Amino acid sequence: MERLLILGASGSIGTQTLSLLTKCPDDFSLVGFSVGKRTRIISSLIKKYPEIKGICIQDKKKSEYFAYKYPEIKFFYGDDGLLSLIDYCSPTMVENALVGFVGLKPTIYALSKNLKVALANKEALVVGGELVNELLAQGKGKLYPIDSEHSALWKCLKVDDRNVDKMIITASGGAFRKLNRDELKNVKAKDALAHPTWKMGAKITIDCATMVNKSFEIIEAHYLFNYPINKIEVLLHDESHIHSMLRYKNGLYRAEISKPDMRNPIKFALYEGLIPFKTYQADDYHKFGDYHFHDFDIKRYPMVKFARKVIKEKGSFGAVFNAANEEAVYAFLRDEISFLAIEKIISKLMNKHIKISHPSLEELIKIDRETREEVRNMIKKGEIR
Ligand code: NAD
Ligand code: MG
Repeated sequence: MERLLILGASGSIGTQTLSLLTKCPDDFSLVGFSVGKRTRIISSLIKKYPEIKGICIQDKKKSEYFAYKYPEIKFFYGDDGLLSLIDYCSPTMVENALVGFVGLKPTIYALSKNLKVALANKEALVVGGELVNELLAQGKGKLYPIDSEHSALWKCLKVDDRNVDKMIITASGGAFRKLNRDELKNVKAKDALAHPTWKMGAKITIDCATMVNKSFEIIEAHYLFNYPINKIEVLLHDESHIHSMLRYKNGLYRAEISKPDMRNPIKFALYEGLIPFKTYQADDYHKFGDYHFHDFDIKRYPMVKFARKVIKEKGSFGAVFNAANEEAVYAFLRDEISFLAIEKIISKLMNKHIKISHPSLEELIKIDRETREEVRNMIKKGEIR
């Protein structure tokens, strides 16, 4: 029986994970969870899972309110509360379904405590990929990806990881895939929140439209599978049925093909990749089915170039990329800046940043804070709209 702790239980990945748990009550026991602002699910989860020992809520006041209501459960709050929650609940596996930089510290912490981590929070690898891999190399913890592309690559590599020529990460192109760059000037947040194939949290949906998400996924693939950037490619694929693929040196392709449903990769990660799965093999990806592919165009999606920079330079570039993006995306969601301003903000900060090599966790936290401050000042002064 896996003692599972879910960080970000109220989000898109978190709630889909909860829906899976009801189907396998003998395999997982929910020992704790965290939520951000949405506290509505707390009471029903406490009723449903008597094994819950601890809960973390972002807000201190709300955490005090629930602590009074449920004295048998220990409540924590804030970013550091997430770490105390891990300590208190003694899980065997932590699912990190948090969104953004806040997911970095708990990932590092859980791995350093030798725990299994099912990771949806790709930002942790974008910012702290080097630190995470150092821990794994020391034999600390285990990491299982939840991102659908990486779950597919993981499965394909399990079947055959020899003579791989390219890792091909598929991309839907996001909400604005049918628009040219000129047409992007006046798009609004509500238009961007309509993803063509997946239903996800707001931040990742915007990241899909800018393709910062794909840039993050290249970095994620690099750290998870240790492949160099010149072996990783992006391919536009309309239907999101092919979740990524490997091309071998003999010209064969191997892919995972299924309808877009995050419960598949979530389940695969929760079971540590130890459940049956299928991959599809063909000598040309056009033969997979009646699917549509388009060559990836870096001029249309310029943010993908920063994946190369982060992987080649390493150090503090991932932290700057992520923090600039996070602040800009939330400003766009509040209608404070235009869609294209997200790209301008990221480019400006990435181009002027002077790298710190091998940053510690504390240094990454400092760079994150400073970058966000800079973005907020730029927006406040109206330098970028
Ligand atoms: P979401 O916004 O729906 O949920 C995020 C969760 O994190 C919520 O529970 C929220 O309350 C919590 N949270 C946010 N900020 C917090 C803070 N400061 N402190 C504590 N808790 C906080 O996001 P999501 O779509 O579920 O995505 C989660 C992660 O999974 C992201 O990194 C995303 O890139 C990745 N991912 C998501 C999908 C998907 O289908 N949704 C697919 C692949 C990868
Ligand atoms: Mg993905």
